[in-house]
Amino acid sequence: MLNIILSGAPGSGKGTQSDLLQKKYGFKHLSTGDLLREEIASGSEFGKRIDAIISKGNLVSDDIIMHLIERYFESVDDRAVGLIFDGFPRTLPQAEAFEQLLKERQEEALMINLVVDEQELVARMLNRGKTSGRSDDNIDVITKRLQVYHRQTEPLIGFYKSRNNYHTIDGSGSINNTFTQLDQLLAKWIR
Ligand code: AMP
Repeated sequence: MLNIILSGAPGSGKGTQSDLLQKKYGFKHLSTGDLLREEIASGSEFGKRIDAIISKGNLVSDDIIMHLIERYFESVDDRAVGLIFDGFPRTLPQAEAFEQLLKERQEEALMINLVVDEQELVARMLNRGKTSGRSDDNIDVITKRLQVYHRQTEPLIGFYKSRNNYHTIDGSGSINNTFTQLDQLLAKWIR
């Protein structure tokens, strides 16, 4: 059973590549961002609190995220093929809690980071903002999200490197080009 952590800055293509992996291999794709947006769309009080955080470009608390992840682990039944975690973990406490959760299940996760330079990230998110309807795909919030990424998520690189579990893909080319690299990297683990 393969757990894949697809990491990278906002706009690096995690969601797109996760969808392609899901189609090709039947992995289940979990995007914490999508889960949070579903909660917002439901119109619940909880969703309103989440919306206030996301639309400012800040991260939702680790407690909320770990609660969602644990609930997901409990609900997902057929995990034989593998799971893709898109946008999680995003902080060191999340990575530590996730490591513990996997250990309890005698499972491991493979970390793959999609690397894209900053100018390209901004251009992609601005472009996505034209159609995504996302409250956080505008220049002010994009700038904030990139700052938050550098401060809170980038330290995960050291975390996974120290565990000899850090792989990178150049995500700056076309969707197909990135997917080909990802596919080649994963060939080592997929039978
Ligand atoms: P994404 O769709 O992955 O770009 O996530 C959109 C927003 O959801 C982020 O900017 C955060 O506010 C929130 N979010 C998603 N995943 C996480 C996470 N693992 N930890 C904290 N906040 C998250």
